[in-house]
Amino acid sequence: MIRVNNLRKSFGEDDKRITVLEDFNAHMEKGQITSIIGGSGSGKSTILKLLIGAYRPDSGEIWIDGEEVSQLKDEAISRVRKKFGTMFQTGALFNSLTVEDNVALPMREHTNLNEGTILIMVKMKLEMVGLRGAEHLKPAQLSGGMIKRIALARAIALDPKIVFYDEPSAGLDPISIGVIDKLIIDLSKKMGITSVVVTHEIPSAMRISDKIIMLFKGEIIAEGTPEEIRKSDDPRVIQFIEGSPDGPIPFSKSLTDYGDELKEMSRV
Ligand code: ADP
Ligand code: MG
Repeated sequence: MIRVNNLRKSFGEDDKRITVLEDFNAHMEKGQITSIIGGSGSGKSTILKLLIGAYRPDSGEIWIDGEEVSQLKDEAISRVRKKFGTMFQTGALFNSLTVEDNVALPMREHTNLNEGTILIMVKMKLEMVGLRGAEHLKPAQLSGGMIKRIALARAIALDPKIVFYDEPSAGLDPISIGVIDKLIIDLSKKMGITSVVVTHEIPSAMRISDKIIMLFKGEIIAEGTPEEIRKSDDPRVIQFIEGSPDGPIPFSKSLTDYGDELKEMSRV
């Protein structure tokens, strides 16, 4: 369903330029859940933004559902975007809108469905995330976990082939994480949705994924089923899975490794 070839992406000008992805290659199979895991700053969100067309790569190819999308113009990008839903950390719900209006938004924007049909479809989407009856609440009246589920209902509003998730369980308690995990699995299996999940929640990635891609500083250091990742004898992978501060991956970034990034941070 998705294939990226030799993707390169850097940010900034001239001597301040940082290369986040050098030569990134990956593929995500139809109907499967692929998780991209890695520490903060390893390039996970950058990959998602490239895939949804929010960023353009410096070079390389992005194939989605049989089409090379990396150089498409705005109009064509919005056509391709209708094939997928996104559940991103930012771009959460509109606080001034009810749950119903939030979930209906993509349908009102991108379809010619009449209002009655839209409201029925909103009910169906809410049913799928276990929140039927929440139609008239506002986001402020919902828990963090419920907000994520509404965001998920909105992500699937247009029956997408692909759903991209950026840190779907960030900031949630373990039970809510379990609920979101189960929903991602259900949607993937029942609706045949191809799912790409970016997360640093290793246990969650281990539970839900058909395939895991582990990133370190923009490079893939491991790739395979959760079982294969668990069996890896690469010390970096082991350290990551165990969440240990001691090992080949520095706990605190050293100046020599991340000079520019630190300078960048100290300016802020
Ligand atoms: P992750 O999601 O794994 O935490 P990101 O993809 O957000 O990592 O970021 C990877 C690196 O790219 C970081 O060093 C970050 O500062 C840099 N970066 C990401 N987006 C931008 C941007 N729009 N402009 C400049 N630097 C960026
Ligand atoms: Mg991120």
